[in-house]
Amino acid sequence: MGVWTFKGGIHPPTRKFAKDTSIEKMPIPQKVRLFLAQNLGKPPKPTVEVGEEVKTGQKIAEADGFVSVPLHSPITGRIVEIKKQKHPVTSRPADVIVIEKTGDDDWKKLEPVKSYDQFTKEEILKRAQDAGLVGMGGATFPTHVKLSPSKKVDTLILNGAECEPYLTIDDRMMMEFPEEIVKGGLAFAKATGVKKIFIGIEENKPSAIDSMKRVCKPLGISVIKLPTKYPQGSEKHLIYAITKRIVPSGGLPMDVGVVVQNVSTARAMYRALEFGEPLIERGVTVTGEGVESPKNVIVRVGTPVSELLNFAKIKDETSRILLGGPMMGIAIDTLDVGIMKGTSGLTALTDNIVKKGTESNCIVCGMCVRACPMGLEPYLLYKLFKKKRFNDMNDNHLMDCIECGSCAYVCPSNIEHVKAFKTAKNVIRALRRR
Ligand code: SF4
Ligand code: SF4
Repeated sequence: MGVWTFKGGIHPPTRKFAKDTSIEKMPIPQKVRLFLAQNLGKPPKPTVEVGEEVKTGQKIAEADGFVSVPLHSPITGRIVEIKKQKHPVTSRPADVIVIEKTGDDDWKKLEPVKSYDQFTKEEILKRAQDAGLVGMGGATFPTHVKLSPSKKVDTLILNGAECEPYLTIDDRMMMEFPEEIVKGGLAFAKATGVKKIFIGIEENKPSAIDSMKRVCKPLGISVIKLPTKYPQGSEKHLIYAITKRIVPSGGLPMDVGVVVQNVSTARAMYRALEFGEPLIERGVTVTGEGVESPKNVIVRVGTPVSELLNFAKIKDETSRILLGGPMMGIAIDTLDVGIMKGTSGLTALTDNIVKKGTESNCIVCGMCVRACPMGLEPYLLYKLFKKKRFNDMNDNHLMDCIECGSCAYVCPSNIEHVKAFKTAKNVIRALRRR
């Protein structure tokens, strides 16, 4: 099959500080803050009012259509506020439900609860939506939608690449819960009817590779060791590395017969089936030079960022906090934000690590072109952006940009390509809607 990788990409320092730290359970927080918009597609509609008492796992917002999932209360408590707050992803005001803990962790689970392999294909799809499952690698696409491709698929890839520097939660999940991940993967395979299952893991996770191989071997599931290269975990690059199939421009994995699911999503699927647990908690890496004790934790969704940072002992010299890792993470300007279903990491950086330097003119060195894993010409796209030539950016395949940040990372002129490209994409989408 040749080398399990792709063209382009970069090798930033991995800084996986928490890779040898076992997963801990965070204490249940006194208060949670839940954005309704936790997933791609439509946000769910609230079904609760201020003052209402809720149990852990109780639905508090219902799916608004097919490309939407419900939201469940992560704690037992009382709804104390439904208000607007700036959403870290969109920077626009968005609805937030605030719940205060009132008592013990009294659960309301999904019914029926039975062995994961007793569910039919239809029941798995329904459970994925009822449990509010979304892609936990950060994409947050509703899981049941991904499991309902409109084209025939023959291959499932479980994504355990975790190529983003600093983050280690998927690595630890594969080390500590391989059986749960594989059982979730088998449920995904049943739901989609695929026979071939691969698990892609970067080679800098040898213990995770061993642990997954131990569980996978008797089941005929292939564990693929991939070179450590960013952005190896991007769906299109993972598919190419493992199957040599090329997802066409503007296309989806199903166009080449593949479904990709993150390993943590697979575990959540298993737990939703076997234990009736909706997605109310997730694994998060709290890391970076800005914390004293980098950690991997299982935490209730909605737990304030401030509590997680305190748990990992945030240092005074921290100057930037990112939801996610340093390449694709989103900088936040308040710690009053709750962890979301797609938050796999919290990275605290200090001034000496944050890239500094003012932007200067492009020197046409071509480094961004060599780094771009999508074969784009970032310097040209940026030039077009400066001239507001959005249609020309579109003609030069801007919409294929996966916003990986490789171009900005290598640029000697400190150009912030991704910021510009995100803006341009929004303009192009708005023009298309006209
Ligand atoms: S890496 Fe920066 S300076 Fe070099 S060609 Fe690209 S945009 Fe220009
Ligand atoms: S951010 Fe976009 S343009 Fe830049 S390297 Fe990644 S895919 Fe290419």
